[in-house]
Amino acid sequence: MNEGQYVVWQRMLNHDKEKFLEKGRTDTEKEVSMKIFDYLYKHGKEFNYYIVAKQNILDIYREYMIANQLPFNDEGIGKAVEEYNTNYKENYLIRGELYRPIFYGEEEDCWGDYEDEENTCGDCGCHLGEQHLPNCDIERCPRCGGQMLSCDCGAIYPVSDEDRNLIPKLKRQQEIENKELDKLLEEYRTKHRKNQDAEM
Ligand SMILES: [Zn+2]
Ligand SMILES: [Zn+2]
Repeated sequence: MNEGQYVVWQRMLNHDKEKFLEKGRTDTEKEVSMKIFDYLYKHGKEFNYYIVAKQNILDIYREYMIANQLPFNDEGIGKAVEEYNTNYKENYLIRGELYRPIFYGEEEDCWGDYEDEENTCGDCGCHLGEQHLPNCDIERCPRCGGQMLSCDCGAIYPVSDEDRNLIPKLKRQQEIENKELDKLLEEYRTKHRKNQDAEM
């Protein structure tokens, strides 16, 4: 992640830690979660994807580690972070590659106020750290960073966990669809250019 994202992400992580400690927790929960916190804080900058920016990030990773019987050391935590993020459901298939959606608050140029828990997306109403709802005009495309509704990345397919075995099929379908779309776009641009020339 870039410098700006990192700063905001650290702030969010700290916020999550405070919230986490406010609630009644067992000593084991606290101990394990603080290990996870330290790991994330230390290694956050190395991640080449955004860490899920949910407010309960410590709970998410702890539960993932327990479910997958990962050891509570740096190696186990690293594995949990890696696996959880690659398996995170609702990846987007864009031009044949899988991308993790950009959640509200992760936009490079549209930071939410992380101290304000009531902060919601101005278009779809989702909360900070949540995935935007379909057709939200604030959502950014994880491939190009532009507005997802209007960018030139072609057809974007959401792929859930259950659909993973369909990915090869979806890729072929997407290629066909994108060829059509690109052709239309090119035709539109050529026409537009001709109109402009005619007006001059
Ligand atoms: Zn939204
Ligand atoms: Zn795009």
